[in-house]
Amino acid sequence: MDIYQIAIDGPAGSGKSTLAKGVSKKLGIMYLDTGAMYRTCGLYALKNDVSPKDEEQVAKLMEKMVLEVAFIDGNQHMILDGEDVTGMIRTPEVSRYASDISALPVVRKKMVDMQREIAKAQSFVLDGRDIGSNVLPNAKYKFFLTASSAKRAERRLKELNERGDFSQSYEEVLKDIEYRDLQDSTRAAAPLVKVDDAIEIDTSDITIEETLEALLSKVNE
Ligand code: C5P
Repeated sequence: MDIYQIAIDGPAGSGKSTLAKGVSKKLGIMYLDTGAMYRTCGLYALKNDVSPKDEEQVAKLMEKMVLEVAFIDGNQHMILDGEDVTGMIRTPEVSRYASDISALPVVRKKMVDMQREIAKAQSFVLDGRDIGSNVLPNAKYKFFLTASSAKRAERRLKELNERGDFSQSYEEVLKDIEYRDLQDSTRAAAPLVKVDDAIEIDTSDITIEETLEALLSKVNE
């Protein structure tokens, strides 16, 4: 069968990763979470005590960083300088660092090159902010998810709580989402935009199962 890619873009909390996981399972293709890669860059800056906005220092970091994306039993693991850091990249601090550091072209270039290399070997669904617009402009299917920020904050909080994390209030989660929305959509390098050939799905009032059905019906058309 031909190798093909599905791009799912959208803002934080729009349901991209849950949807991409569902698509990957249903269609039997691999899933690449590109946000995890930027999060790992953010973590690297944090560990090295470098400001994620300091372009010069971050450029040096990017040169020495050894990053590997490993797929173990179908799950993506982030290996940073030989250490599996997958469990360390979901904290609020790393989220902020990821958002800040991902605005730097030197970081995006390195990550986008890796993403293209990974996705060319077999069929993949990728989620992120710039997959359809920049990483894989020729992806066979492109989707753009949206939802109100209130709804997205609600979902993100539920997800955190389900993981046993009660460290943030609804207001804090909402503030984080609004910060990242603004940052991700106003940066100069590959901002979050819906491209013309992407199918938009507003997930505010539909369940993840319904979103998955809508997406699969487009793919099967
Ligand atoms: O998707 P997730 O929320 O895990 O992404 C973390 C951060 O990485 C986002 O806030 C965004 O700034 C950045 N990102 C990006 N481009 C992507 C994926 C994520 O800039 N393709």
